[in-house]
Amino acid sequence: MANCAIVGINWGDEGKGRMVDLLTEDYDVVVRFQGGGNAGHTVINEYGKFALHLLPSGIFRKDTVNILGNGVALDAENLSKEIDEVREKGVDITPEGLKISDRASLLLPWHRDLDGLEEARLADKKYGSTKQGIAPFYSDKYQKKTVLAGELFYPEHLRQHIADIMEWKNLILHNVYGAEPYTLERIMNWIEEYGNRIKPYICDTGEFLKNAEKEGKKILFEAQLGSLRDLDYGIHPYTTSSNTLAAYAPVGSGLPSAKIDRIVGVVKAYSSCVGEGPFTCEWFGDEAEELRKAGGEYGAKTGRPRRVGPLDIVATRYGVELQGATEIALTKLDVLNYMEKIPVCTKYIVNGQETDRFPFPVLLNDAEPVIEYMDGWHCDITGIRRFEDLPKAARDYVLYVEQAIGCPITYVSIGAERDEYIRR
Ligand code: GDP
Repeated sequence: MANCAIVGINWGDEGKGRMVDLLTEDYDVVVRFQGGGNAGHTVINEYGKFALHLLPSGIFRKDTVNILGNGVALDAENLSKEIDEVREKGVDITPEGLKISDRASLLLPWHRDLDGLEEARLADKKYGSTKQGIAPFYSDKYQKKTVLAGELFYPEHLRQHIADIMEWKNLILHNVYGAEPYTLERIMNWIEEYGNRIKPYICDTGEFLKNAEKEGKKILFEAQLGSLRDLDYGIHPYTTSSNTLAAYAPVGSGLPSAKIDRIVGVVKAYSSCVGEGPFTCEWFGDEAEELRKAGGEYGAKTGRPRRVGPLDIVATRYGVELQGATEIALTKLDVLNYMEKIPVCTKYIVNGQETDRFPFPVLLNDAEPVIEYMDGWHCDITGIRRFEDLPKAARDYVLYVEQAIGCPITYVSIGAERDEYIRR
């Protein structure tokens, strides 16, 4: 098994970070291929607890090469701060261990400005953006109005390119939103400061990956967010602005010809969702608060309380199909320890009809969940390491989910620490 992708099956926050941290041991290279600083992967290991926003989760392993591919939104400011924070905890970060694609576009301060301005304009119709500039960034990328990281090595060309883009950007900032226009000095100072800090890591990562593959190195692709946030297949328009699917990993990583043999989809034992948009199985009130507390469901980037509810089989099955998952890691099973009965959303009712197919986004607004209950196990399962040692009710839950989503569950995590999982 050469290459592997670890991807989210649902709305994100499924626990991908901990799975990447666990699996990197078997891989030589870890690549982030999409997204930016808008989400966080939580990793707990011997160095401490980290919420990684941009750095690949393989950064803690000495012999792993970590790559930020051309598909990411390269936020040099947040990335350099993150590098400092991780270094402060004793992790060695060098250009040998971290490589940034020269073809990755730079997320610039005006992307963040525009994100905030647009969310403010939308007021109660907002999408729930994390205001990290992701949507304006990807829109600009598709308009070919971004600057590539590799351009930092060509200062004269860079200055002119930035000046040209700025002229256009200022029209929008000023004329559409009434905001202060940028001056060339201001944007160039920012580039000088943060561009220089990431420059040592920038290289032709496509070439590196091609050679790594030739040498038989094993590559792990690490996704951000989940299937239901995919720009093309997710809950439009409450998606992110990039493709969160394993199918995009080769393109966004720098090795478009890569074959992915193993796709580990990460599913949480219940559902959570950040931001706006339909969330069919959502719980409210005390029930929600109890689950949110048990699962620590507060945004890694924003600290916002996440929306929570029972596991949604309809959405999860759809997510598994989109990712082409070959196996599943079911995380946070321990969070359900407290429940008397374990609720599962097995079907939706759409327009008065029961369905087990995930509907077209517009229809989701009126979808109702059909909830069924399974027995709870009411005990602490965090210390268990073998599947057969789990209480019967917990095993039954895992087996039920496996059959219902049509994909083998090969890992069950029962605690946040690196070794708190069961391999099946
Ligand atoms: P990601 O973006 O998909 O990596 O997800 P998060 O960063 O939101 O990670 C999920 C959260 O749950 C983090 O705080 C993890 O430390 C924690 N976590 C991961 N696996 C488990 C588990 O099996 N049990 C418990 N209790 N917590 C877990």
